[in-house]
Amino acid sequence: MLHLTENPILLDRQYFVKSRDGVYRNAQILETRENLDAPEEGELLRSTQIQYYVHYTGLNRRLDEWVDASRIDTSQGCLADKNFENDFAQISHDDPFRKVTRNLKRKHDEINHVQKPYAELDPASAALEKEYESITKVKYIDCVQFGKYEIDCWYFSPYPEDYGKCPKLWVCEYCLKYTKCVSTYRNHLYSCKARQPPGVEIYRDGNISVYEVDGTEHKLYCQNLCLLAKLFLDHKTLYFDVEPFLFYVLTEVDKYGAHVVGYFSKEKVSPEGNNVACIMTLPPFQRRGFGKFLISFSYELSKRQGVIGSPEKPLSDLGKLSYRSYWLWVILDRLGKNSQSIKELSQETSICQADIVLSLQSLNMVKYWKGQHVICVTPRVIQEHSSHFPSPRLVVKPNLLKWNPNQPSATQQSRGKIS
Ligand SMILES: [Zn+2]
Repeated sequence: MLHLTENPILLDRQYFVKSRDGVYRNAQILETRENLDAPEEGELLRSTQIQYYVHYTGLNRRLDEWVDASRIDTSQGCLADKNFENDFAQISHDDPFRKVTRNLKRKHDEINHVQKPYAELDPASAALEKEYESITKVKYIDCVQFGKYEIDCWYFSPYPEDYGKCPKLWVCEYCLKYTKCVSTYRNHLYSCKARQPPGVEIYRDGNISVYEVDGTEHKLYCQNLCLLAKLFLDHKTLYFDVEPFLFYVLTEVDKYGAHVVGYFSKEKVSPEGNNVACIMTLPPFQRRGFGKFLISFSYELSKRQGVIGSPEKPLSDLGKLSYRSYWLWVILDRLGKNSQSIKELSQETSICQADIVLSLQSLNMVKYWKGQHVICVTPRVIQEHSSHFPSPRLVVKPNLLKWNPNQPSATQQSRGKIS
């Protein structure tokens, strides 16, 4: 049993903090705020109403949270740096995502661009990186009400003014407008006419529907979509400069309307050949195959355009896992049917050669021979690996994609309505 004493809790210092699972972990105090929850009726006004924003050492930032002083063990004062180093190694084993990412780290470093440490950046870039980190280190919005879901937020998002510092936001699931006041939200639900994303419905399969939304035509909607997405994405992404992008919004349709599940954005013109800028599935819909569906959809668009594409880097940790799994499924599936060269694979799948080579390298299925990469596998090896990369649960059916790459602008097409 840990005893709490009167030692002060200091900003930027390390303490043992009781995390959500009840385990005390080494954590750093990043910020403080007044406790915004009013006391319950009959409850005495608490003498201490300060809350502390903590980062658990070695764990993903999505687990950062606001805690009351009662969860911080101050019995030994703050922790010395040497203890913190020792604990880092032990505690870091507990986060399942960290475990996965560590095991796959070497492969990921090969597959994906890895952020350079400050020391390797020029001074101006390093200063910008540091500034970005200090601005985004604290997540103020604990949760959002989105349709029938109350979703815990993972990361900072730059909602303007004091909206960004509210513990809870109410977001209309159709037009994505937000408010910090529940009565305003309820009034909005009565008056809001939207029941689907703006733009054009370009894909429909049963209750799955995808809309193409132009950032120029529907600027506010796309900005609101980016702000919402940032709550679940740790890396830099665009929020306000949405005009150069198209947004592909995946929805699940029922008798009430088309409910946003996730999306990806794509530059209208990408000199780097990126076919995805940002990709996100909302937490209530994760682990149901929607992420892979979106990835697959992005390659279907590239195929229709007759180009080869690659997602913009860096990818989030969950994004990396999804992409790796998708690429390997596609590659193993093709190789299982007939033997092909890397170039042919790339042309058929629209996956760029570099992504194919790195995926093959992760399974040790490629050799460098006479100046080029050559696939080097037996049918048995393919079969063995295939069982680890099963077919996606949701498959994109190209014949249902109503999209003409020569008419990408939504203005050219008739408005898609739910029928
Ligand atoms: Zn609305």
